[in-house]
Amino acid sequence: MLEYSDKVKHAYALKPLDFGNNANMEERRNEVLNNYKKICKSLGLEEKNVYRPYQMHTSCVKKIDNEMPGIFTKDFQDVDGLITDKKEKILSLSFADCTPLYFYDPVKNVIGNIHSGWQGTYKEIAREAVRRLKEEYGCNPKDLICCIGPYIRKCSFEVDEDVKDMFFEKFRNTGKIDEIIIKSENNFKYYIDTGLINKVILKEEGLDEKNIIDSKACTVCNNNKLYSYRIEKEKSGRNSSLICLI
Ligand SMILES: [Zn+2]
Repeated sequence: MLEYSDKVKHAYALKPLDFGNNANMEERRNEVLNNYKKICKSLGLEEKNVYRPYQMHTSCVKKIDNEMPGIFTKDFQDVDGLITDKKEKILSLSFADCTPLYFYDPVKNVIGNIHSGWQGTYKEIAREAVRRLKEEYGCNPKDLICCIGPYIRKCSFEVDEDVKDMFFEKFRNTGKIDEIIIKSENNFKYYIDTGLINKVILKEEGLDEKNIIDSKACTVCNNNKLYSYRIEKEKSGRNSSLICLI
């Protein structure tokens, strides 16, 4: 999206900045706000315009309008995606292994920011995001650009039989199931390629392959710079994705 840097600003905040999680949000509110202040300053944006929902691994995508003041966590329940066509509204989500999906439509000048963890991926929040962008703003999927940030990749996302079975049942007819679920050599372990699922969904929804841009970064393999719940468990901080029309 660099070619649109006069239209849209976006960032992914690395360690040591911690943007808090649902459990510790209230006690760490000042620290998190201060971190938003830092990153917004470096982007030339104002932290009072940050929209940060209370993420719950849903497939709920919320539209941000002008009349809404900037909101922060508990004010905005059970939302895992934000979309807007308004300038200076900073859409922000937090992550530790889950997949950030940034959307930009250069024709309609509309943005989206999506939190697609394995549960959100299973619930197809990417499909819901494209549907809402079409419905609310008349976006043509062919124009949409989607950037995929860092997340726990197939190298590191080992799952148990029950999760493997869920994904198999749901995505068995995509034609890609043998790449979506990878078995270890001894067949005792399974790995899921959630990024491939998102790519399959985005293409099914009409996005052009060349407009799906993958950072290729894994949170587990780059744990020195990125928070990973898989590695750090309850102690893990949260990275943050931000996107804003200017
Ligand atoms: Zn990895």
